Amino acid sequence: MEKLVSLSRRRGFIFPSSEIYGGLSSCWDYGPLGVELKRNVKQAWWQAVVQKRDDMMGLDTSILMHPQVWAASGHLEGFSDPLVECKGCHLRWRVDELGDGNCPSCGGALTEPRQFNLMFKTSMGPVEDEASVVYLRPETAQGIFVNFQNIVNTTRKKLPFGVAQIGKAFRNEITTGNFIFRSREFEQMEIEYFVKPGADKEWFDYWLKERFSWYVNLGIKKENLRLREHGKEELAHYARACSDIDYLFPMGWSELEGIANRGNFDLAQHAKSSNESMTYFDEEEKEHFIPYIIEPSAGVDRSVLAFLVDAYDEELDKDAIRVVLRLHPALAPIKAAILPLSKREPLIKMAKELYSDLSQYWMISYDDTQSIGRRYRRQDEVGTPFCITVDFESLEDKQITIRERNSMKQIRVPIDKLSSVLVAKLNGEPFEVLPNGGSYRLGF
Ligand code: ATP
Repeated sequence: MEKLVSLSRRRGFIFPSSEIYGGLSSCWDYGPLGVELKRNVKQAWWQAVVQKRDDMMGLDTSILMHPQVWAASGHLEGFSDPLVECKGCHLRWRVDELGDGNCPSCGGALTEPRQFNLMFKTSMGPVEDEASVVYLRPETAQGIFVNFQNIVNTTRKKLPFGVAQIGKAFRNEITTGNFIFRSREFEQMEIEYFVKPGADKEWFDYWLKERFSWYVNLGIKKENLRLREHGKEELAHYARACSDIDYLFPMGWSELEGIANRGNFDLAQHAKSSNESMTYFDEEEKEHFIPYIIEPSAGVDRSVLAFLVDAYDEELDKDAIRVVLRLHPALAPIKAAILPLSKREPLIKMAKELYSDLSQYWMISYDDTQSIGRRYRRQDEVGTPFCITVDFESLEDKQITIRERNSMKQIRVPIDKLSSVLVAKLNGEPFEVLPNGGSYRLGF
């Protein structure tokens, strides 16, 4: 973890928030490379769960919501007892539930008790009084629940269907730490999948598999992921079932994403609290009912951390250690770097033209400083899958060299084929140079 924190700081992935003032505990800023990685993670999620699916839609709701939302959801009441938190496993306990003063689950040491509501409170409007209190949302899910009827009425989707949202959430956590793993301001990627009661078990299993594969398809090693089913005593009051996708972080197995079968708890609570109907009319069966909900809830920051940890690698290359982030090309902040082998004008001109062509489609970096070896290392360290070198021969034969990050293999490619070769490579499709003179089988 220390190596990763230091690499992130040094190369501009992640900085402590307000660093010039000594930092603000448990808040983080994403630098120029970090913001690309984070956007790519969110983009990959959105593509998988919204863009490629006919049964899913996106939503973007406000962070500040009517305070009654939090009364109905149980967040106001549920977190206002005096609580202690285990410093080891982070389970929270009501003081009156404790026996010998250690964590009943793992025996770890506990924090001091405090009256604790994990929601950040602020006030809305010019007068600060009890009536103006609003909260920063502690989860994005409630924005989806309260819009259930808007979605049904405007899209006319039939069950089962789902709604996905990415957005900031805030929790005044008692203990934070492990870099961006647990912070007080973070981002979530949440799905609420509405199903007929009775079909919930099947859809719960479906989403477990689906979400597990998402991480594997984006390059996380299977052996570093596991599913952990919650025991009955661990289940939240609203949940009929819950399983976590855990990742083997440097500090041990910890939750990456939670998948819960929430039954009809949330919609029923909001129906009661708002006096609005939350039922769905099933035209085939001619009946009204409140749908059940399956909720796969993932953290953007935790995913970023898992992708970084999993990708980090060191290997001996000649006499030096090569640090390489083996990020999936879809996640890599920079897709290709253009590296002219000399600073002579015609080469720079050609390289800059390549940059302006390719940067219409991808994040590309341009670097003409230092030796080529050092420039390769700098790109390896931030996970750039391809380096493109322009040399004097390029001026004659109109070909450039592509070097692959993982294998360090180099191939020579005509400039007019470069973007199609990159498309294929970035999509993981096979291509090869045929011996009969520079034609390519691109796999599509
Ligand atoms: P934990 O037990 O680790 O605090 P949780 O079970 O409270 O997590 P959920 O309420 O299920 O978390 O939230 C869903 C997801 O949101 C988590 O799996 C995690 O990825 C992310 N998340 C929750 N709290 C934080 C936090 N404080 N910092 C970063 N990500 C978080």
